Amino acid sequence: MKQRITILGSTGSIGVSTLDVLARHPDRFEVFALSAATRVDLLLAQCAQFRPRFAVMSSGAHARLLAEKLQANGLPTQLLLAPDALEMIAAHAEVDAVMAAIVGAVGLAPCLAAARAGKRLLLANKEALVVGGGLFMRAVREGGATLLPIDSEHSAIFQCLPEDPETWPQRVDSILLTASGGPLRGCDPALLAQITPAQACAHPNFSMGRKISVDSATMMNKALEVIEARWLFDLRPEQIKVVIHPQQIIHSMVQFRDASILAQLGTPDMRVPIACGLAWPERIASGASRLDFSALGTLAFEDADAVRFPGLHLSWQTLNAAEGTAAVLNAANEVAVAAFLSGRLRFDHIHAVNLATLDRISPYSPDSLEALLSLDAQARCAAEHAAGLLAA
Ligand code: NAD
Ligand code: MG
Repeated sequence: MKQRITILGSTGSIGVSTLDVLARHPDRFEVFALSAATRVDLLLAQCAQFRPRFAVMSSGAHARLLAEKLQANGLPTQLLLAPDALEMIAAHAEVDAVMAAIVGAVGLAPCLAAARAGKRLLLANKEALVVGGGLFMRAVREGGATLLPIDSEHSAIFQCLPEDPETWPQRVDSILLTASGGPLRGCDPALLAQITPAQACAHPNFSMGRKISVDSATMMNKALEVIEARWLFDLRPEQIKVVIHPQQIIHSMVQFRDASILAQLGTPDMRVPIACGLAWPERIASGASRLDFSALGTLAFEDADAVRFPGLHLSWQTLNAAEGTAAVLNAANEVAVAAFLSGRLRFDHIHAVNLATLDRISPYSPDSLEALLSLDAQARCAAEHAAGLLAA
């Protein structure tokens, strides 16, 4: 029987790579539903190729345009409107697996819906887990869902860990998340104030969405990944370490009690963790090229420079504070990155907005989605205020 898949965020970098892998295995997978915020023509082309039952758009104007085009092309896909329809396509009884590839905390509600409905949940949308934290993991447990990481570092760790999670506490000493260091790894910290969105988005190894590209440049991406790892693998903050590895060949490592280290390697291509999550525990072709060790040369490693990347250490501070702190940090960072990308905020002020917001909002541990979303909204307000003051 084919696995029926919903892709939340099918027009983004991860969504497109997921469809690329699915197209290689028409005998195994069937697309049940797709969703997008704005890219009507790409979503239309995806509907024509994969013939999903549902397509979900985030705005009425885009939805009307897509509805007309679906009809003009004689396509049977039924068009629905977010946000409610996102939860419906994530939790639908006929869906087997959900690829969560929306960017930002806006993906939390459909992820929770998929978790509560007991789906196989392929998680690229790290912000949803950073914000959802314990509530997210409880929903996975109580719903009987299978949570599989798609973020390449977490997929690497998942592949290196023993199969039985019950054995992790006795066997695992720590994990080492690798980081590319992004496009600004060698940049003089004095020049950070002048970095433009185009420079920040010029990642050396990956073409990714703009938000995660800026997060890679500030290393806030790694800060979010430290928090993501804490929840996925139930680790204490001091068990999570970060090492810069510019070639991105080692995707992350697990160190065991006896000081043995297992690493997962491969070419930097997100289709590898995507194929791994889709087929786990089986293995299927991903389309990625093989690693050529003779052409590889040197693998380098270095520590992250705290002056160039001040945001990285916020992750450990956040994990040692009340649980809602992660939601506050994530909301501040989403606001700051959007302000930077729209030319309203200096690159080095992203960290200033994050700090000011953490200072302003008293964190607590929210016990429901509503409480989390209210904390998220308060933090966004405070971050907008801080960004406004810095821009003035
Ligand atoms: P992207 O910007 O390329 O795509 C985002 C997708 O989400 C698009 O389909 C967009 O239409 C949709 N979307 C955006 N805002 C939305 C909203 N308000 N409501 C509904 N849909 C919305 O981003 P991406 O690079 O594909 O990243 C997606 C997620 O995967 C992020 O959380 C990112 O951190 C994570 N991730 C990405 C990569 C990568 O290589 N791109 C690697 C690891 C993790
Ligand atoms: Mg990653």
